[in-house]
Amino acid sequence: MSLVTHVQQRALKNPDKIAYHFMGKDTTYAEFNQSVERFAAALKSLGVEKGDNIGFLLGNSPHFLISLYASMRLGATAVPINPIYTPDEISYIVKNSDAKAIIALDAFIPLVEKAAGVFSSVENYIICETDPTTAEKLAALPSLLKPKVKSFTYLISTPAEAVPLVDVDSDDTAIILYTSGTTGHPKGAMLTFDNIYSNARDVAEYLNFSTDDRIVATLPVFHVFALTVVVNAPLLMGATILLVPRFSPQEVFQIIKEQKATVFAGVPTMFNFLYQFPEGKVEDFSTIRLAISGGSSLPVALLHNFEDKFKVRISEGYGLSEASPVTCFNPIDRDRKAGSIGTSIVNVENKVVNELGEEVPVGEVGELIVRGPNVMKGYYKMPEETENAIRNGWLYTGDLARQDEEGYFYIVDRKKDMIIVGGYNVYPREVEEVLFAHPGIVEAAVIGVPDPNFGEEVLAFVVKKDESLTEEQLHDYCAEKLAKYKIPKSIEFLEELPKNTTGKILRRTLKPTSKTK
Ligand code: AMP
Repeated sequence: MSLVTHVQQRALKNPDKIAYHFMGKDTTYAEFNQSVERFAAALKSLGVEKGDNIGFLLGNSPHFLISLYASMRLGATAVPINPIYTPDEISYIVKNSDAKAIIALDAFIPLVEKAAGVFSSVENYIICETDPTTAEKLAALPSLLKPKVKSFTYLISTPAEAVPLVDVDSDDTAIILYTSGTTGHPKGAMLTFDNIYSNARDVAEYLNFSTDDRIVATLPVFHVFALTVVVNAPLLMGATILLVPRFSPQEVFQIIKEQKATVFAGVPTMFNFLYQFPEGKVEDFSTIRLAISGGSSLPVALLHNFEDKFKVRISEGYGLSEASPVTCFNPIDRDRKAGSIGTSIVNVENKVVNELGEEVPVGEVGELIVRGPNVMKGYYKMPEETENAIRNGWLYTGDLARQDEEGYFYIVDRKKDMIIVGGYNVYPREVEEVLFAHPGIVEAAVIGVPDPNFGEEVLAFVVKKDESLTEEQLHDYCAEKLAKYKIPKSIEFLEELPKNTTGKILRRTLKPTSKTK
């Protein structure tokens, strides 16, 4: 069984069930499956074969769902690319992935025009119309380029000859996800058909997804968290996806109310925005049975504040692109532990190890490593990086963690973000947790900066709610809660913190100003 066959069966057994809702329109499983079959046939007629890579420059819209499932139907490999990357970043991924076709939003017509000669592997550009002027723009393309450019709407409304579902081996690559990495170019994590199927199944089971669920999909679908938790797992269980093109508290509250959503999944920044939104009321989350947080650590103060305000339980999970992504989740049928990423999900093993790869005793900090059917087969065309990431069958996550007696894991921080002050380890997360708990603070991030005496010092960046809050007051507050070497030496106030498109705070782009240098 694969994700595609599950959707096919849903379409046969329960054709009128709503697969997804987008901009006021419902699409049933039968309609979705038909679009997938048609688009797969169209791709095939354009020469896309099993094993070919297809780049997606798409956001949260039906185009993405149809393209992904059509690609899997053909045994091809989807390469979702963050559409708000810069043209250079996009070009790198298109070239590195040897994409044979690109499915792109119409906003990318100018890029297609520029890149057509540069992307030698790309034989077809399929443009998804989102506004009425697209046809004109396509018509105005240079005549040499025109044969390579197709309209998505035309392709799915003009059926090509149907193609049977292509057989794949569980080890064939279904998706290549480029993860941003901290240095150099992004690496393409190759996720197999088995990886994504098993993780969607295990997550759906762990979170008890059913046909009654209506899941808010506001996380960007090209990111692995959304891909498994709000796309594949719901479709596998015959649930309904409520696609929200762009996150905003108003949109989220509105869709929950209007569509009686039962599950909300977000990154901590989204939970913070929802919590801080002045008009947010307890009723706004009244139909939600489960709120899921992942992608980065959820500050404990925010978790409690959110749960108190909206009377909903948040279950935090953890994952990474290389593990399709989920490895741990807080159980929903027992008490979840605040600040923890929960226990290993079914079929997946997590272990905390020292530098030698040996498991450390309960309570001690080490690197989190992971093994299971969800772990990628490697990075695309990067054997050395693959060998470094997967050793003896275990994926090294680069995250520091500890485990308690009951098997719950706690992420301490990214290994690379640890600060060493006069020989003592400081984990930015610990300091951020303290800052987050201050009622006058909206959000905070902590980095290390060079210091002539201590090697490094702690620097905090804070967005304040209470304008009268001073650096000195915050310093005194931290002094009550933290050991001396962990107290930020300086604090900078910002209007907002830099974040990536998935809402993760980008600590690495924070730089001290002349005041704190
Ligand atoms: P990505 O591959 O973009 O999904 O990023 C994966 C990284 O996000 C992990 O290696 C962690 O550093 C971080 N991450 C994901 N979930 C959590 C969590 N619940 N708590 C702390 N960090 C997390």
